Amino acid sequence: MILPIVKFGDPVLRAKGAMVGEVTPEIQQLAADMIETMRAAHGVGLAAQQIGQALQLAVVDVAGVEDRPSALYIDGDQVEIEEHMPMILLNPELRLSKEKEPGKEGCLSFPEITAEIVRSIGVHCKARLLDGREVEFEAIGLLARALQHEVDHLNGVLFIDRMNSAAKASLASRLKRLQRDGE
Ligand code: ZN
Repeated sequence: MILPIVKFGDPVLRAKGAMVGEVTPEIQQLAADMIETMRAAHGVGLAAQQIGQALQLAVVDVAGVEDRPSALYIDGDQVEIEEHMPMILLNPELRLSKEKEPGKEGCLSFPEITAEIVRSIGVHCKARLLDGREVEFEAIGLLARALQHEVDHLNGVLFIDRMNSAAKASLASRLKRLQRDGE
């Protein structure tokens, strides 16, 4: 089922997600609905806050984004991205590379707004999957950026918080309008 996406201005986007304990049928359904919602909106990631649930649950899918490559490493070996997408991550924790780079980002909760955001080039991610398995992997490229964006959401942090002041100032009136509509 495609769920309505919460827009900027709704306080749930500022809520830190609760840890997901037992994987109930409700959590499984929510994850399936989030994937459907993300795909319908042509996004590469979606956090539970964006469908109105403050939970540590995010979905990511960077398969087929050819102009912005990613790489995924499990136990140090590079693996095929397509075989691991979409990712459904519970309680993800990131360790970030020191090296950073700017890159264009949008957010499904901020329609028609994009900005250059400086993020770590690579991440190490520890998370639980829907089947209860604990996994650890490394990612670079668009996948690393998407994971940082989604894990921020799970902690109530939004990409506008990471924009430089000039970018934020140039978007101020659009953000104000969005926030008013979202409230
Ligand atoms: Zn977002």
